[in-house]
Amino acid sequence: MPIGTRDTSTTALSSSIQPCGALLILDADVGRVLQASANLASIIGIPVEQALEEGPQAVFGHELARRLRRELTGRQRLSGALSVKRRVAGKLTSLQIDARRSGEQVIVEIEPLIRNGSRRLLATVNTWLARIAEAANPDDLLDALVSGVRDLTGHDRVLVCGFDADGHGTVLAEQRGAGVMSLLHMRFPASDFPPRTRELYDLVPLRNVPDISAPAVELMPARDPKAGAHPDLSSSLLRSISPGQRDYLERLEVAALLSIAMHADNGLWGLVLCHGMSPHPLSPAVRDAALSLTHMATQRLFLLKARSEARYLQRVQDSRQLLGSERGELVTPATLLQRHGESWLALFRAHGVALVMPGHEGAFGEVPTSQVLQALVARLEDTHHHPGPWSSHALGEAPQLAGLDLRHATGLMAVSFPLGETLRGWLLLFRAEQREVRLWAGLPGSMRSAGPPRALAPGDGSLLVKLFSEWRQEIQGQSLPWERVERLAAMDLAEDLAVIASAQEIQRLNERLRSEQQALAEANRRLEHLALFDPLTQVWNRYRIEQSMDIELSAAERYARPLALLLFDVDHFKEVNDTHGHELGDRVLSSLAREVEQVLRESDFLGRWGGEEFVVLATNSDLEAGLGLAERLRQRIAELEIGGLPEGVTISIGVAAWRPGDTRKRLLARADEAMYRAKAAGRDRVEAE
Ligand code: GH3
Ligand code: MG
Ligand code: MG
Repeated sequence: MPIGTRDTSTTALSSSIQPCGALLILDADVGRVLQASANLASIIGIPVEQALEEGPQAVFGHELARRLRRELTGRQRLSGALSVKRRVAGKLTSLQIDARRSGEQVIVEIEPLIRNGSRRLLATVNTWLARIAEAANPDDLLDALVSGVRDLTGHDRVLVCGFDADGHGTVLAEQRGAGVMSLLHMRFPASDFPPRTRELYDLVPLRNVPDISAPAVELMPARDPKAGAHPDLSSSLLRSISPGQRDYLERLEVAALLSIAMHADNGLWGLVLCHGMSPHPLSPAVRDAALSLTHMATQRLFLLKARSEARYLQRVQDSRQLLGSERGELVTPATLLQRHGESWLALFRAHGVALVMPGHEGAFGEVPTSQVLQALVARLEDTHHHPGPWSSHALGEAPQLAGLDLRHATGLMAVSFPLGETLRGWLLLFRAEQREVRLWAGLPGSMRSAGPPRALAPGDGSLLVKLFSEWRQEIQGQSLPWERVERLAAMDLAEDLAVIASAQEIQRLNERLRSEQQALAEANRRLEHLALFDPLTQVWNRYRIEQSMDIELSAAERYARPLALLLFDVDHFKEVNDTHGHELGDRVLSSLAREVEQVLRESDFLGRWGGEEFVVLATNSDLEAGLGLAERLRQRIAELEIGGLPEGVTISIGVAAWRPGDTRKRLLARADEAMYRAKAAGRDRVEAE
């Protein structure tokens, strides 16, 4: 990567180190020195040859050599770096010694301790730790981190470079000295952070190159005398930089580099990068302080991120609670969106939201037309089958939705929710385009075809400026990407919508059932009516009047109650039909029935016996009373005016009274006989049995 750590795999296996320290490779028992860096004498005052010949005790002295052996017995590395004072070239020097196992060998690093106020160091670290702890949001925190690291190390430029999902880096925070170019918001392509480079940060979270131009120091001998291989210096802080990386950093006007990993649970999240415009030696203590500060800040950063996610999810929860109050009522998608659209737009940073359910839909904000919404949902139904949301922040590139006029939407998150067994409803959140200009310090993969690779001439002071201005990428047709929490929130919301929608469906079904029940009851009533009433005259039919006769006959029998039966027939009714038509005949029968009903008491029953023959059952009436009633009826009918029938009609009535032991048949037969007598006697008459 330009700002610093571009490594090739050969570097990691090269057998040279940076000259700021010395390196020894010992055998697993810490008994022999297998290789030593050529600068051993200048760092610790012992010539390489002597070290190779006489072993660790010649380099460290007996006591320290013993201690190293003891501390590394059964352990991977020292519990902490050791410090020791040595007279080197007549000068008393403080040295830091660190050692760790690497395969079958032990690597020992020796670095001079540079005096730069280690007493002040602790106070400085504490001050910045407090500032980091106080930071209320990630931006403030990263600002405090770069300020703190710059305060500690004194580098000319300190920045935090965060990686996106594609591995590209963006400078998120920066502190720099006067006259140092800003790299804030600049981007570095993923190709600048090859996997090997990332892996090295897992081994050692820190990379320090105090002087990129300092010539590398070789190990002597160059290869492990036993295995004959180059030593693996991947985990060594002192490992030298490759010529490629040196060239790269030089062109970027960086003369010294310190980079510190910021690790998240799932890997490398970002790097703290410290640039010196001139060589910048660092005391191990300062380097470790910067590492601690970065470590604390990284932890705090993820805590803040987790908190902000929690706050967001709480807002989602609040919105769901509001929604919960709607479970009982029958709300349409349109009503739901009227009530919640605004808050959902804010929650999802969207500019339009639609709810599409079979048969109805609702929309809020800027959404495509209803027709397009339906087509959109149909396409998603066809292509998207798993229960998670479907989302895109570049709809123009989504083949599923090609050809749909999505208007101003460039981002879409669509979540489905079940409605019954086979149907689905859809919550659709639309995002507007987010135009952006990205300044790249190298061509990201997707842009490589966009232009020829540039040729940079080293030594041009404004190269960095050129580099960034050359690779401007104008981002169009993209919205803000959909965050993980937003996807989770949308799924939660869809779950609630499913509950509301299914409650509505149940209510709808209930309502249909209720109205069907009503229809059924009505039909039953009509059937019952049909079964008991004569459809033309609306008086009881023969079946019903027979039932009543039987009931009244048994009551008469039991309580010796009088009962009279009147049977009457319209006189010359055939003529009425023949002269005036059947329709008028029908009307005569209805009018007649209404008229008879007027004369009858509550306790009397009227029924149509058949054709133009009727029966009246007069309860509590003896023959005399029956005759009286019959006479009243005869008169009333004779006087009845019927439209279209100027001559009116008359009836002939036969009356019979119940006698003990009478059956319905016998009583009727006597009434029938009497009626015929009335007919025979000239009609419009009453005759008794
Ligand atoms: P009478 O009883 O005085 O001897 O003479 P009539 O003309 O009434 O004699 P009959 O019993 O032979 O004729 C009855 C007629 O009543 C025959 C039939 O067409 C008619 N009729 C029976 N039921 C209906 C009905 O529901 N509507 C109409 N319009 N006519 C009916
Ligand atoms: Mg008749
Ligand atoms: Mg008749």
